[in-house]
Amino acid sequence: MDNANLIEARELSRRYGMTHAVSGLSLTLRKGEILGLLGPNGAGKSTTLKMLAGCLAPSSGSIRINGIDVGENPKAAKANLGYLPEQPPVYPELTVDEYLRYAAGLHGVPSAERASAVTRAKQSCGLGDVAERLIGNLSKGYQQRVGIAQAIIHRPKVVILDEPTVGLDPNQIREIRSLIATLGQEHSVILSSHILPEIQAVCGRVMIINKGRVVYNEAVDKQARVSNVILGLKRAPDAAALKSIAGVTRVQLLPSGQLRLTVADNADPREALAEAAAKNGWGLYELRAEGKTLEEVFVELTSGEITIHESLKDAA
Ligand code: ADP
Repeated sequence: MDNANLIEARELSRRYGMTHAVSGLSLTLRKGEILGLLGPNGAGKSTTLKMLAGCLAPSSGSIRINGIDVGENPKAAKANLGYLPEQPPVYPELTVDEYLRYAAGLHGVPSAERASAVTRAKQSCGLGDVAERLIGNLSKGYQQRVGIAQAIIHRPKVVILDEPTVGLDPNQIREIRSLIATLGQEHSVILSSHILPEIQAVCGRVMIINKGRVVYNEAVDKQARVSNVILGLKRAPDAAALKSIAGVTRVQLLPSGQLRLTVADNADPREALAEAAAKNGWGLYELRAEGKTLEEVFVELTSGEITIHESLKDAA
């Protein structure tokens, strides 16, 4: 296995009775990455994360965490990860300090190191001022920080966060997002969300999941990607000549006299178009890209029937 892959999941499937919650899902998390699982409710995100965290056995498929097979050696594999489930596993009747000491024990931190582990986790999660407070009396935002603190208390390589901002108010959401970004400096993080701007704000890569399958897996582009090219030609050739240029899949004539070329995923034929126009004397007067935002990609891939992004078709 490539050592840079901290999680390597292959062909994971999980059924609940007749429901196929996850089907043939493969996933890698690289060192230093913050990966976002994005998908509508019911897409299979929580089920995937539960399997990666070793809390739910896959119906089929395999998972390695830091090179260790979760099925064969769950304890050693799980020592490398911290997990915050959708319902934070915090005890309202304990203080923050008491709970984190308990969590440190559960994660196998030796007793001599527990106090310093608790101090470090509180510091990382901004919990210093509430250490003596009962968890049940804290705001939802602070309870979530406690949930994150228990996930990092043993300094795992991988942190798995299931919908970490759900139910929080906008200020709390901002704080938790910035906390996650900070975690990313020391840990590799995988988080789930059904909120697109959340993924764009904190993740370097996004996997869109729909109906238990990966339908998109790309770096989060801050830039819109090219989906159409608007082309103005004084002496336009026939559509076949334009479609022969790599990446052009469709040619439409607009009422303005310009052409709209539909572009294959991940292709950008603008340079080739400019060269062909110059070579063939087409009289190029306009050449511009129309972008497709991640939001458009998301809606396109998660509404209606399953559509798989071009870049994944070979793998599907
Ligand atoms: P997400 O986290 O993306 O909202 P889930 O992984 O929770 O999706 O759910 C995926 C599918 O599996 C849904 O159809 C859901 O109803 C079903 N499901 C999840 N957990 C269970 C369960 N314990 N028993 C039966 N069906 C379940």
